[in-house]
Amino acid sequence: MPWIDEEKCSGCGICVKNCPVEAICMENGKAKIDMGKCIRCGKCHEICPQNAVRHDSEKIPQEVKENIEWAKRLMKHCKTKKEKQEFLERMVKHFNKEKIVAEKSLSKIKEIKDEN
Ligand code: SF4
Ligand code: SF4
Repeated sequence: MPWIDEEKCSGCGICVKNCPVEAICMENGKAKIDMGKCIRCGKCHEICPQNAVRHDSEKIPQEVKENIEWAKRLMKHCKTKKEKQEFLERMVKHFNKEKIVAEKSLSKIKEIKDEN
């Protein structure tokens, strides 16, 4: 999924005009993508003169960092070593479930791709 680096966006509006599904609008002089409409075609990324439209994969390190910070923040509520261990085990289960959802979704998407 593309995202806008607001520091780089000059507000020129080129991406707004070129998005095939009208998924981009301007908000306070910056481009904003409606992820509910975006078909991930990459056109905005190709045409932005400021290189302000970034790839989703660039956010992976940040998202991992946020997950770890979230877990550490919650772990502060655990008083004993046992509570911490049990909490961390639940976090493992939580992220395993996220992984299974992603894997099953990928598998279904591949099936749809083969059918079309
Ligand atoms: S084309 Fe790039 S600089 Fe121009 S509004 Fe879109 S994101 Fe911002
Ligand atoms: S990736 Fe394509 S559909 Fe999504 S916002 Fe950019 S131009 Fe529009």
